Amino acid sequence: MDYKKHITVIEDYPQKGVSFKDITTLMQNGEVYQQAIHDMAAFARQKNIDVVVGPEARGFVVGCPIAYALGKGFVPVRKKGKLPRETVDADYGLEYGKDTLSIHKDAIQAGQRVLITDDLLATGGTIRATIDLVEQLGGEVAGLAFLIELRYLDGRKGIDQYDLYSLMIYE
Ligand code: 5GP
Repeated sequence: MDYKKHITVIEDYPQKGVSFKDITTLMQNGEVYQQAIHDMAAFARQKNIDVVVGPEARGFVVGCPIAYALGKGFVPVRKKGKLPRETVDADYGLEYGKDTLSIHKDAIQAGQRVLITDDLLATGGTIRATIDLVEQLGGEVAGLAFLIELRYLDGRKGIDQYDLYSLMIYE
């Protein structure tokens, strides 16, 4: 499947110099969306995972259907202040300043095998914070799965000990 032809690339969005990869055109096509989730779920199945974790909001777009396909649970990672019960937190750097991600403290049991998934790997800040949250809870990161990896942003740096799967790579 040539997935890239279903991604719309928007130059200089949301700011000058950024080449934004819009996944909504892929999601609008039921057959292509289903096949993409099928491929990501096949990776997760190989990794023998117990649970899927995804950061808001586009991590839900891929994470929930993968979890459903495998008959596993889905655990949301959200911006601090959005989850109603006790959380653990991780800070991550943004271009300007920092932000904090949270996960419910009881969401993962020690030793569970976790697939972490998001739509896109850019600088890797979001995924490193999500890994931190899972590991704080004693989860074992069994794999990382993305629709898109932007190789030119070097997001794999510092996470090369994890098994990483991406459906599309932009060099
Ligand atoms: P990172 O933390 O790796 O720098 O950025 C990845 C996060 O930002 C992901 O959660 C992703 O949803 C969002 N993101 C950054 N750039 C893009 C892009 O070009 N397209 C889409 N769809 N999301 C992006």
